[in-house]
Amino acid sequence: MLLAHLTPMWVEKNGVGVVVVFHDLTAIRRLEQLRRDFVANVSHELKTPITSIRGFAETLLDGAMHDRETCQEFLQIIHEESLRLQRLIGDLLDLSRIESKQFHLKTEIVPVDTLIYSAQKMVRDQLKAKDQNLTIEIDELFEVEVDPDRFRQIILNLLTNAIHYTPAGGHITVVARRRKSDWQLIIGDSGIGIPESDLPRIFERFYRVDKARARNSGGTGLGLAIVKHLVEVHHGKIQVESKVGEGTSFILTFPLSPSD
Ligand code: ADP
Repeated sequence: MLLAHLTPMWVEKNGVGVVVVFHDLTAIRRLEQLRRDFVANVSHELKTPITSIRGFAETLLDGAMHDRETCQEFLQIIHEESLRLQRLIGDLLDLSRIESKQFHLKTEIVPVDTLIYSAQKMVRDQLKAKDQNLTIEIDELFEVEVDPDRFRQIILNLLTNAIHYTPAGGHITVVARRRKSDWQLIIGDSGIGIPESDLPRIFERFYRVDKARARNSGGTGLGLAIVKHLVEVHHGKIQVESKVGEGTSFILTFPLSPSD
């Protein structure tokens, strides 16, 4: 049963007063379910690489290490899986830091192109490996008030996804534009797209459209959840438009002076 409010009420019966406090049990149960799902997801995500590392290490110790080629192949897998664990733990810590009440942005006034070009530098090798090209469109240069490190993380997560979910030879665009009272950053790709039915859920932690494909891409399933939080602490909003087989665009909108 959903009770409308949580305000304590004074009720009088036969001259005796009682304070009645209603609790919204539906909301409490939903939160509890979310917490349980999160713990189950984290356990599953941690278990998968650990099982793999343990399995390959045991096979090596059982004798496979005497064959040089097998040894090399298995060590490669152990290395990749440990990197995946490191990324996952890093993202989990990041998410809990951003969500905590002690989290504060260190904002500065920076030219918008500096942020975009420094993120572009960080994905140069990935773009090259997939023979993709990245176009940056900035109509007029303007300055923005953001936490540069955290904002670079937003751009980097979205660019990394655009690269992962766009086939080789594809195209990625970054547009920055100032409008009357806000400014926008749009990161678009010519990739595989996201089905309409999945769009409302992609910002949830560990939600993936195609689980196997996303896991093989090395993603943690937390990238967009982190992006959404970081956009919101910058007083912005994030929207997504996508068409399967054609591509996806993430549209970020921020106030021009968030501190006003
Ligand atoms: P992951 O680590 O799996 O990429 P994210 O939180 O970054 O996790 O993204 C969640 C899911 O949203 C992805 O698994 C993928 O299915 C979908 N997704 C995100 N960005 C894109 C994109 N640019 N194109 C297509 N699908 C995307």
